[in-house]
Amino acid sequence: MGQSFLVTGGAGFVGSHLVAALRARGDAVVVFDNLSTGHRAAVPEDVPLVHGDLTDATAIDAAMAGQGFDGVFHFAALSLVGDSMRQPERYFSANVGNSLRLIEACLKHGVGKFVFSSTAALFGMPERIPIAEDDRVDPGSPYGESKHMVERMLHWADRVHGLRYAALRYFNAAGADPDGRLGEDHQPETHLIPLAIDAALGRRPPLAVFGTDYPTPDGTCIRDYVHVSDLASAHLAAFARLDDSSVTYNLGSASGHSVREVLAAVARVGGQPVPHTLAARRPGDPAVLIASPERIKRETGWAPRLTALEDIVATAWAWRAAHPDGYRA
Ligand code: UDP
Repeated sequence: MGQSFLVTGGAGFVGSHLVAALRARGDAVVVFDNLSTGHRAAVPEDVPLVHGDLTDATAIDAAMAGQGFDGVFHFAALSLVGDSMRQPERYFSANVGNSLRLIEACLKHGVGKFVFSSTAALFGMPERIPIAEDDRVDPGSPYGESKHMVERMLHWADRVHGLRYAALRYFNAAGADPDGRLGEDHQPETHLIPLAIDAALGRRPPLAVFGTDYPTPDGTCIRDYVHVSDLASAHLAAFARLDDSSVTYNLGSASGHSVREVLAAVARVGGQPVPHTLAARRPGDPAVLIASPERIKRETGWAPRLTALEDIVATAWAWRAAHPDGYRA
């Protein structure tokens, strides 16, 4: 028999792909989302959607009472580094305060397992590449700091109350569900791949390449792009480990691609060049972020399946080409 889960942020990019993965294996899901960045249309019609806010302890209580959830997947958060540099308090409130309320609700309602969307941003400027879980944490932004603070709250919730948790540090989530129903739709969009695709399709001005003087082979930043469906499967693998202990995993592919390489891949997939300009560095961007996924591979057998950059880009291209207005279509 399937299990049942509460998924906060299940109407968002990574959350909606996890909902699809849970449903595909026969689990029951309730989505809790304030739809500030998520989309109602990203939630299947037969999945209950609680349109609620995690600032509201009563709403969380109502969503959890009597449900007997086997676990909570907590995606709902603010997630833009630059934005967090302008309004740190908003990030601490939405990411730390809301997570605390959710943890308290889990303890109150006897939900013993918690899977948390963390981030590579807590490493700041990493000391070595690829980055392992125990490498130095030194967040370069309130966003990264807020995620690290939640990891620490979970650590203590486990130590004191026995709440089992998985802290999953995402590197660069990318791509779209290969079946074409789900994709990436941020307002405003700030991520490289969807912006590059839209620039190639002539829907946006030329893409600005943020910095060409980094200490990398072609001068542009290198990131570890992971297909969003692989991220979803990593959540299932991590959840299965919680019977034994809490876990912290870096979710990446151990390989990286520069901004120029991404633009070349988009051009190959789309058969047209990506118009772009060369711009100044974006404050806070480290030169290289690549995960070592060795721990999750060793402990769960998980490995990303869609590893070729062109394959990742192709799924994103297919979704954006078919959904020019994203979920609003
Ligand atoms: N980037 C860029 N132009 C853009 C958006 C992003 O050059 O319009 C670069 C950015 O500086 C970073 C990489 O693309 O090196 C990935 O950025 P994104 O915002 O997609 O993800 P992040 O690494 O910030 O999580």
